[in-house]
Amino acid sequence: MNIIDGKMISSKLKEEYREKIANMKMKPFLVMIRIGDDAAAEIYVKSKGKTCLELGIPYSELHLNADITQEELLSQIDELNADDKVTAILIESPIPYHLDILEAFDRIDPKKDVDGLNSINLGNLAGNHPIFTPATPLGIMRLLKEYKIEIEGKRCVVVGRSNLVGRPMALCLLNANGTVTICHSRTKDLRDITKEADILVVAIGKPKFITEDMVKEGATVIDVGINRIPDSKKIVGDVDFDNVKDKCSYITPVPGGVGPMTIISLIDNLIRTVNE
Ligand code: NAP
Repeated sequence: MNIIDGKMISSKLKEEYREKIANMKMKPFLVMIRIGDDAAAEIYVKSKGKTCLELGIPYSELHLNADITQEELLSQIDELNADDKVTAILIESPIPYHLDILEAFDRIDPKKDVDGLNSINLGNLAGNHPIFTPATPLGIMRLLKEYKIEIEGKRCVVVGRSNLVGRPMALCLLNANGTVTICHSRTKDLRDITKEADILVVAIGKPKFITEDMVKEGATVIDVGINRIPDSKKIVGDVDFDNVKDKCSYITPVPGGVGPMTIISLIDNLIRTVNE
């Protein structure tokens, strides 16, 4: 069993990108839109800002009131789209329920949609000519590449079908010539499907859901889940790591696997918002 070290790979990429950014004549400029006072959104924006600062990427945060209307939000996005200084825009989730996040994503100029979540960019990924791929699947593809894990012709199973992770992940694996099955909460006989996987990616948000009996001997298991254990600071994944690890060829730990790759992959996308 080999543990995939996302922390180490992301540190290596950070140095690579630092140098690349230092040599850019025109730097990317990111605006992060945060709406309301969700604690998780605040943490995500802070940590993305910290990474931008470390790497010399200018950014700003546009913090909007929780009671903003959809029209006001769209008009703020229009202003940022029209501002040539701004090369990248993202909207941090979650946002208040009265707002339509899909419409907001679609309002972002596709060339500035650094999260790759608007319909044009998801469509480009589906058509196998991606420009911006959502950061988590992009980071996972990088991990597979770094560890020279072959995808072509392999049976790939993705558990979870969110627009943020599962769907774009499945498209990435398909684009890399994997044979892909997507599972979700209505999938019947899940174990029979996951047991077939040479590469199993799990993104459901259910602590230790995947157990040893659901994994094929020698599989690569990628755990996207981040689940906080109540009344403790401990975070666990969607895979029961201790129970599963000895059966795998490769496995990502939580924390220290996929997580660190997500922010660094956002930086990869940010660099590509500037045409030099
Ligand atoms: P999400 O939007 O809640 O989607 C969860 C998906 O899991 C849905 O497609 C759901 O199916 C499926 N699912 C739920 N229960 C299931 C079950 N028992 N069997 C099979 N499928 C089931 O979550 P998400 O945004 O994709 O995130 C998933 C996890 O990844 C969360 O723990 C999140 O915190 C974590 N995450 C980590 C990173 C990172 O950087 N490491 C980034 C993003 C997310 P239906 O569609 O049928 O409801």
